[in-house]
Amino acid sequence: MKQYDVIVIGAGNGGLAAAATCAKAGLSTLLLERHNIPGGSASSFVRGRFEFEPSLHELAGIETHKEMFERFGSEVDWYTHDSTFRLVVPAKEGDEGAFVNENGVLVTMDARMPVGFQNFAKKLEEIVPGSYDSCMAAFDLSERMFKIFDNLETPQKLVGSLKDFPDILRMVSHTMNEGLDALGMPKKAQDIFNTYWCYLGSPGSKLDFLYYLAMLHSYVKNGTGIPHLRSHEMSLAIDDSIRRNGGDVWYNSEVTKVIMNDGKPAAVVINGEKTVYGKYFICNSSPNSVWADLFDKKDIPAKQLKMLNARKIACTLTTVYLGMNKTKEELGITDYSVFIAPDTDSDKQYEAAQNYFSGYCIINCLNEIIPDCTPEGTSQLFLTTMTFGDVMKDIKPQDYKKFKTKVAQDMIETCEKALNISIKPYIEEIEIALPPTFARYLNTPLGTPYGYMLEKWDSMIPRTAQYMQDQPFDNFFFCGATQERGDGYGCAYYTGEKAGGIVVKKVKGGK
Ligand SMILES: Cc1cc2nc3c(=O)[nH]c(=O)nc-3n(C[C@H](O)[C@H](O)[C@H](O)COP(=O)(O)OP(=O)(O)OC[C@H]3O[C@@H](n4cnc5c(N)ncnc54)[C@H](O)[C@@H]3O)c2cc1C
Repeated sequence: MKQYDVIVIGAGNGGLAAAATCAKAGLSTLLLERHNIPGGSASSFVRGRFEFEPSLHELAGIETHKEMFERFGSEVDWYTHDSTFRLVVPAKEGDEGAFVNENGVLVTMDARMPVGFQNFAKKLEEIVPGSYDSCMAAFDLSERMFKIFDNLETPQKLVGSLKDFPDILRMVSHTMNEGLDALGMPKKAQDIFNTYWCYLGSPGSKLDFLYYLAMLHSYVKNGTGIPHLRSHEMSLAIDDSIRRNGGDVWYNSEVTKVIMNDGKPAAVVINGEKTVYGKYFICNSSPNSVWADLFDKKDIPAKQLKMLNARKIACTLTTVYLGMNKTKEELGITDYSVFIAPDTDSDKQYEAAQNYFSGYCIINCLNEIIPDCTPEGTSQLFLTTMTFGDVMKDIKPQDYKKFKTKVAQDMIETCEKALNISIKPYIEEIEIALPPTFARYLNTPLGTPYGYMLEKWDSMIPRTAQYMQDQPFDNFFFCGATQERGDGYGCAYYTGEKAGGIVVKKVKGGK
């Protein structure tokens, strides 16, 4: 009977990084994925003459990713760009401060923010006089925050390192809104500064200030990027690394049960048929799905159930993928990433996102970074909105298609109005992904790609400090968006490499 050193369940970004780390260290490694291709969200699909990117808007901290691919012995062809975001808030009736922007649209806010701390702060000052110093103070804090990042792993090290940074220590339990207020940033500038809140899925009143700073820092410092062949290129590169290092990767292989022996996991059943044995297990599947579907109730540790009850499922996304029979220039698209919001305030955007459709929509044009990502004379757009909670619960199966079409129509029209452009007449291919679509491909509760909501009590720092105590068995570790860093490519890769590293140490140390 073959027993793998480690079995990894799920080939999302976390599972891929975990399996590559273990295989590279010489562990006999098996990666199991229920889908027929790797990546989870980091994947690809084709409609007509377009190959669509399903999820990756932008990847921050390219240098960190380059280093990871070097560690795996893989190459990725990076395309970078040097703007962060444009925030457009269409004016509501009676807004006295509204103005007509370059697109001829009446707006409350239109901010196009550059890369580089100084550039970003100068632009903010131009839009909101008196905001420069507080913006630079925030970036200074984030720059020093990175110095303690490596010490977050254990409470002792964390407290030790924070002693050297008393101002950071003071901020640890504070939210984005509280932190920016403390730095004296004017409210209007905070609204622009907070635009990326949706990348972590929690608004200004809930999100950990330091974590948001760290994320914004990584986008603003050196800009962002995306591989030439998009996220699929990264997933295939890691799959290749695992195989080159002797690991096994099995697709169409859903783990349907975990078999226990002596109070801990000993084997997994694949597709209800085949049993494979392992010493250690790394799980990229959501804890909600794992405890509901893979374990007998009696084997679930009590703490895991408490955690499931305490945590909130993070936001869900709806994405409309559009293959356009016109170029971006012909469509009048001038930016890579535009955030169209119904209000300037992140908490009001969050409140609106409790319902479909809130008017919140991010529009991306991939050709802005990768000019040849579609056939000549065409372009690719993707529109994304977020919602919170079980927004689909009242939709009857017979109404699903109509509902889906209506949401897509609303999103497209919102973009058309906010940018004063025409989209509908030039659509050659359209695909619409609602939360159930993502649930089908990711096997996550409500289809969230973001794990659990980051909140004051359950943010990156406490999750990191508690990581080992929060793992269910001494041979079973979770990785991916449900873990300490929340959602995002970099976060999922990080947790995968970390879980892989723990298992490598245990196997090599003989524990
Ligand atoms: C539309 C959209 C836009 C996004 N934009 C960005 C962005 O611009 N930048 C960014 O950094 N992040 C972005 N994200 C978020 C990011 O994609 C995710 O947070 C990240 O990829 C999550 O990775 P993960 O490791 O948790 O794995 P997941 O992607 O959740 O994959 C889990 C994998 O496990 C498999 N699996 C589950 N259960 C089993 C089982 N029982 N047996 C076998 N296999 C199983 C699933 O099939 C899946 O392949 C976006 C996500 C979406 C959907």
